[in-house]
Amino acid sequence: MTDEIAFNNISLDKLSLPLFTEKNVEVTVLRLDKIHSSISGNKWFKLRYYLDEAKKLHKKTIVTFGGAWSNHILATAAICRLNNIKSIGIIRGEEPAKFSPTLSHAKEDGMELIFISREDYAKKKIPEELLTGENYIINEGGYGITGAAGAATILDYCDKENYTHICCATGTGTMMAGIINGALIQQDIIGVSVLKNNLTVEDAIKSLISKEKNNYHLFHDYHFGGYAKHKPGLIDFMNSFYQQTKIPSDFVYTAKLFFAITSLINNNFFEAGCRLLLIHSGGLQGNASLRKGTLIF
Ligand SMILES: *Cc1c(COP(=O)(O)O)cnc(C)c1O
Repeated sequence: MTDEIAFNNISLDKLSLPLFTEKNVEVTVLRLDKIHSSISGNKWFKLRYYLDEAKKLHKKTIVTFGGAWSNHILATAAICRLNNIKSIGIIRGEEPAKFSPTLSHAKEDGMELIFISREDYAKKKIPEELLTGENYIINEGGYGITGAAGAATILDYCDKENYTHICCATGTGTMMAGIINGALIQQDIIGVSVLKNNLTVEDAIKSLISKEKNNYHLFHDYHFGGYAKHKPGLIDFMNSFYQQTKIPSDFVYTAKLFFAITSLINNNFFEAGCRLLLIHSGGLQGNASLRKGTLIF
């Protein structure tokens, strides 16, 4: 069963790692991961205005896309359940003999799962029977202006003027676009792309932000092999980061963010006196795909 979303749990955790003190860089983590076990992190924010619109249009069903470990699929299923809307997930690839925990949970939350071939998925082909006026379709990952507008409200959970930089992991770029739109013009927004050589994300972001904005920077060197790929170095980092901060991270998104920022601090990318806000966008459920015992949390 899906519980209510606990926005009260969101905290701002200031990190006191020796490296940060040595470089005189302040690092604070906005803990969106703590709001809910399924609707963790940024997904509620990206979905909130789509949901409002679907309700306003009296749509009965929300249809969206994702892979077998998709945080977006799980969050959509849980949010729809909370709002008494039917949900359908179009899932990449053949129906597996055994569902991933993500798909099992989505199904428990009432989502109907429809599996389509990887070729059709790449084209985001919607099965014909779903193209009815009763269905409200949301892009993969909640990509779009409406998703970015929701993501901008993440900043309501901090005093944004306290920070010189706001840093986040980047998949479709929707969250980063929202943060860019919501941030102050003198702030730098740092995105860490979790896909390999996904340079088109720059255009994807550009098309969601106000034209005059150029106070952002994307890093493409911290993907660890590509989307949902990892290397021992990343896992070691996650365990030691947890030991030092008590903050768990997920290997697909937030671990790559924390690793990248730590490494940029180490390389003096940030001047002394900078105050960084790192967005913990959740995604911890995806760690269930790792072999047991890989992580210490
Ligand atoms: C989906 C997701 C992101 C990426 O958000 P985009 O808006 O697609 O860039 C980052 N972190 C976590 C944990 C996510 O689940």
